[in-house]
Amino acid sequence: MHKFFNSFALALVGLGMCFMPLQAEAKTNFITIGTGGITGVYYPTGGAIAKIVNDRAEFGIKATAEATGASIFNINAVKGGNLDFGIAQADSQYLAYNGKGEWEGQPITELRSVFSLAPEMITFVVAEDSGIKTINDVKGKVINIGNPGSGNRQNAIDIFNALGINYEKDFKAESLKAADAPRMLQDGRIDGFFYTVGHPNGNIKEATAGMRKARIVSIPEIKELFAVAPYYSMDSIDMAQYPEATNASEGKTTTVGMKATLITSANIDEEVVYNLTKAVFENLDELRTLHPALANLTREGMLEGLSAPLHKGAERYYKEVGLIK
Ligand code: GLU
Repeated sequence: MHKFFNSFALALVGLGMCFMPLQAEAKTNFITIGTGGITGVYYPTGGAIAKIVNDRAEFGIKATAEATGASIFNINAVKGGNLDFGIAQADSQYLAYNGKGEWEGQPITELRSVFSLAPEMITFVVAEDSGIKTINDVKGKVINIGNPGSGNRQNAIDIFNALGINYEKDFKAESLKAADAPRMLQDGRIDGFFYTVGHPNGNIKEATAGMRKARIVSIPEIKELFAVAPYYSMDSIDMAQYPEATNASEGKTTTVGMKATLITSANIDEEVVYNLTKAVFENLDELRTLHPALANLTREGMLEGLSAPLHKGAERYYKEVGLIK
């Protein structure tokens, strides 16, 4: 009995020792970040966030950035638990949380915001030989409005609706992924395309630097649009970023914009969201260097454009550093 007890106790101590090192080590949380097409800004931005946390073991996060169909896809995938985080346009975030647009009558109540990222602009690129000079010149043309699941598709539809242009009848609307649009434009298979994206980016460079000359068409402030869509604001694209566009000499192209935001679900662990937020905010200098579109991020600016409630992990960090009360 005594002997048995001793060996049992020894075995327990041994077992305990086996488990001890495991308990002492911080747990690593594996997370996925849904981005967009590989030629946009979401994909490198997701990669930059992943790099910040992956390079710093103390935050206990290993992140992977995944190429996806963009904003709307990401929101739905975060809701469905197929992604932990996603990048989404501020307007998509607003519509999803409030049960409008794509989510009419079905608000995503568990949607949470973490922070906002670079500003994005509705970018309408057209071939010079298409004859399109203004947004009203699209009648009878072939225009890519974007893949279902992208935020830019909704933006193009909003603009045409506000202008009284029927995108199903007045022109031929294509549903291609943004990454395919520049090649299709250069191949003469489309006259123009919409891409809501941060600048500069490889997609618009590719589209404006080919043999077929291309320009970026301005989108004016459309009263009917701004009246129903408070999440839009006027912005401009610095044309120095696309010197080969035929309207580069204009300096700036005025258009409609909003912010890109990082979203998650209320179901994601508070500690994980806290650590990711802290890692990004404490290493903002590095994040700014990882893509030119991120160069102007500021801590205060990264709390703007959020319409879903803050995730409690992010909120905890912002309170701790005095960014919010
Ligand atoms: N704003 C785009 C969308 O959600 C994606 C832009 C990007 O991938 O950079 O449709």
